[in-house]
This record gives sequence, C-alpha cells and structure tokens, in this order.
Amino acid sequence: MVAAVPEPLGEADLHVHSVVSDGTVAPAALMAEAAAAGLGAIALTDHDSTAGWAEAAAAVPDSGVALIPGMELSTREGFTSVHLLGYLIDPLDDRLIAETARIRESRITRAEEIVRRISRDYDLSWEDVLAQTVEGTTIGRPHIADALVARGHVPTRSDAFAGILHPSSGYAAPHYAPDPLTGVRLIRAAGGVPVLAHPGTRGAERVIPDRRLGQLVDAGLFGLEVDHPENREDSKPRLRELAKRFGLVVTGSSDYHGAGKPNRLGECRTAADVVARIVAEASGSAPVLP
Ligand code: AMP
Ligand code: FE
Ligand code: FE
Ligand code: ZN
Repeated sequence: MVAAVPEPLGEADLHVHSVVSDGTVAPAALMAEAAAAGLGAIALTDHDSTAGWAEAAAAVPDSGVALIPGMELSTREGFTSVHLLGYLIDPLDDRLIAETARIRESRITRAEEIVRRISRDYDLSWEDVLAQTVEGTTIGRPHIADALVARGHVPTRSDAFAGILHPSSGYAAPHYAPDPLTGVRLIRAAGGVPVLAHPGTRGAERVIPDRRLGQLVDAGLFGLEVDHPENREDSKPRLRELAKRFGLVVTGSSDYHGAGKPNRLGECRTAADVVARIVAEASGSAPVLP
C-alpha cells in the first residue's frame, strides 16, 4: 500500500495576519489578496487566536486559494519573545484555548500599563487604542502604535516602534507567555505542526542555541521559517544548516500585516512539497480547499 499523498496545494505564504490580531486586512479580503498574488494557499496565523478562521474559510471558494488554518503562538524565553507558528491545530483543544485566553488577557493588562506610562508624556488614552481594534482583537503594541499615529504623535506604525514604543524609551512592559518548550508541546497536543517563526531576526550570532533547538525538536518542532523578510541575511546559512542537521523543514512566509508593515503578501513563499509535508503531519484540523 502506498500512503495517500495529500492533494498539492501549491506554493504557499504560511504566515499572514488579519484584523483579528495586528493586521489591517479582514480575513475574507486576505483570501482575495492571496488570489491576486498568485498563491496556491495561505496560512492565517493571527497572534494567539483562531477567531479569523471561519471568515477566511468562507472566502475560500470565491478566492480559489486554499486556507491552512493556523496561529502564531506567543512564547517567551527569559526576556526574549519567541513566536511559534502552529498549523492545523484543533481550535477546540481545551489547553490551547485556556493558554491563549490567558495570553490575550495579559496582553490587555500589559497594553494598558504601556498606555499609562506613555500618557504621562503624550496625549493618549486607552480608548484611543480600543478605537484601533475590532471586537475580540488580540491586542498588541501595533494597536498602541496606530493610536499614536491617529493622535498625530508619529507618522507611521514603524516610526512608533522605532521611537515611543522602543524599549529604550522606558514605556515597555512584558505580557505573560509560556516558554517555547511548553508552546511546542501545546501545539503538538492539539494535533498541530509547530514551526519556529522568524528565528533569524537578531542575526547569525543570536539564533537559538543548538542544545535548546534540540530540546524543541525532541518535543516535536517540525520546521524553521528561514525565508522571512526580517530574518537577517547572515543568519540564513546557519538556519539552513540547523534545519538539515535536525531534520526540520524550511519554510518561507511574508508575515504580511496589511498596511501595518512594509512586508508584501507572498514576497516569501514555501515550496509545495513542504506544504504537503506539513499537511500530512497534522491531525488537529484540515486545510480548507477551494
Ligand atoms: P507585541 O505582540 O505587542 O509584542 O508586538 C509585536 C508585534 O508588532 C509583532 O507581531 C510585529 O509584527 C509588530 N511589529 C514589530 N515591529 C514593527 C514595526 N517596526 N512596524 C510594524 N509592526 C511591527
Ligand atoms: Fe504581528
Ligand atoms: Fe512574529
Ligand atoms: Zn507574525
């Protein structure tokens, strides 16, 4: 017997954000944009939320683009934020639901604290931030950035991150997040496929240490997001070597945030055979096919 090979979904952009987190495009509109970009599939990976899946899935037939439902799970190693992409998880998994609810709650408390600190020096209120969200949005610093733009304190989101929101400005505060090992286990326990997001943004010298990566792989880490607009070029050869040594797949994705970041949808892509391997590895949910 030859094992069933999943229907090829084509080239995919495996890391995309909607208004459910800090993207500026609605889930259905993302599917239309994906069609215009000539993509076979996209993964919707809002921060710590699956709330956009249904709307994106409903737009699949019109778009002709497949949807790989996913999530970008926030984790933290000491002071360093580590993001895990979890593909095809079971959205009803109790532990994942509880953990992401806890993260989203803490994101709110933390954003309120950051706003309190900023408001000592700038005219900015919590209502200004809420005005940048929709019902149920996973709140993050991008929404504070957008509120600062709306108030005229900075011209763009990126300027807010480079200035007022930069840790050196003294307004920063952390939110709760599990450690990466717990994150990998949570995604696997929910039937999902974990991939380490943008592991090279801090350069070759600061990619995850081999021993730590080995622990994540033993827990079920499946891939490294090597082709990402913010991974530094000098980190990529090292990441490819690590992927080879640890038997991990290499993915490529844009981390599109709509107008919220310069990243363009589809500017980095994952090969069709890698997409098929991720789908074959998953048991929590299935891709939505056109
Ligand atoms: P938070 O989740 O609150 O820690 O905020 C981090 C998010 O802000 C990430 O998802 C990034 O995509 C986004 N972000 C980071 N830097 C920038 C930037 N310079 N411009 C726009 N968005 C950014
Ligand atoms: Fe984001
Ligand atoms: Fe991220
Ligand atoms: Zn992201």
